[in-house]
Amino acid sequence: MPSTDKCVGFLQELIQTRSMSGEEGEIASLVASQMSELGYDEVSSDDAGNVIGLVRGSGTAPTTMFNTHLDHVDAGDPADWPHDPFGGEVHDGVVWGRGAVDIKGPLAAQVFGIARLIESGDRPPGDVYVTGVVQEEVGGLGARHMAETLAPDLIMIGEPSRNEVRRGHRGRVELQAHVRGRMAHASMTSIGRNPLEVIGRFLSKLNEIELPDDPNLGRSTVAPTLIRTDQTSANVIPGEVVLTLDCRTVGGQNSRTLSDALGPLLSECEIEGTSSQICIPEEDKVSYAGLEMTYSAEHPALSLSADHVAVQTAVQALAGALGSEPPVGVWDFATDGGHFAEAGRTVVGFGPGDDRLAHTVSEHIHIQELEIGIRGNEALARNWATQFAAAN
Ligand SMILES: [Zn+2]
Repeated sequence: MPSTDKCVGFLQELIQTRSMSGEEGEIASLVASQMSELGYDEVSSDDAGNVIGLVRGSGTAPTTMFNTHLDHVDAGDPADWPHDPFGGEVHDGVVWGRGAVDIKGPLAAQVFGIARLIESGDRPPGDVYVTGVVQEEVGGLGARHMAETLAPDLIMIGEPSRNEVRRGHRGRVELQAHVRGRMAHASMTSIGRNPLEVIGRFLSKLNEIELPDDPNLGRSTVAPTLIRTDQTSANVIPGEVVLTLDCRTVGGQNSRTLSDALGPLLSECEIEGTSSQICIPEEDKVSYAGLEMTYSAEHPALSLSADHVAVQTAVQALAGALGSEPPVGVWDFATDGGHFAEAGRTVVGFGPGDDRLAHTVSEHIHIQELEIGIRGNEALARNWATQFAAAN
């Protein structure tokens, strides 16, 4: 049986291999060679540079995909960390470093969970894919491509969930409020038309906007996050200001409905001589493997009801391996699961690691938790597809 120690060693290597979005080439090779070594039937990569491991099933049960991503966010100043963010150090049964929970711990637990099944000599009831996609942290280029090229019946997203089951999350839309005014010398305020004044009025009214409260996913929110003007000089009234809004969406909302709601509020805040517009920014992305894509900063929401058969059968499959039924909840953050769900796939979540540590300077994972994650993934690979098919 591939030991927990071997999985920890792999996780340390993953943490030591930096993989910012767009720079996942090295880690993709590392994951692929580990899968080959563990006896996966096929290991390949697609046009985006996503890694795809396949273990063939013994029968015709639904095809399952275990999915995580290969990239991580910036570690910031290493001096702010208790341990080297790229050291993969182990202290008192805990692995430290950027990606320990988001996403290299869960990635290792998926790769090794399915390896336990291979090692036992058993086969999964249907085909099982284990995939690591690129650029999740910058809009999901890898998942957007995979959603069009692979069509498994069930998808298990491995984002950290404290080894609980996740049945969805709010979506994320980025919008920009553009306000144009009139540039002028800052000593001559009567000549200028300061767009910052409009932004100030808009910010003070933002909490008046009515946003839906979803029984499954919670409340939709809009948070102003970045502001930039067309000026670098402190003694000039700017001609243009752009305010970025991070919007968390629930069912029925998207970039269009949000800009329709926010546009009139922004117009109301204009002062004489200014004009305004809500824009949906588009980004051009290219993967390390050379695949180019242009998309708006939009992650769809993901939502299954608590009694959905895919959620319930995942809970049953995990209960045996974990000793009791894991709680079911929703994630605060968005995942690649939204892209897969939008393509018509059935998506549930399960992964080791405390999601509250993601993107922080104290990112770490307990080896004990990692081991539970491995066991859980093995159980899901063995039983989820059959139980899902039987209950459907
Ligand atoms: Zn993640």
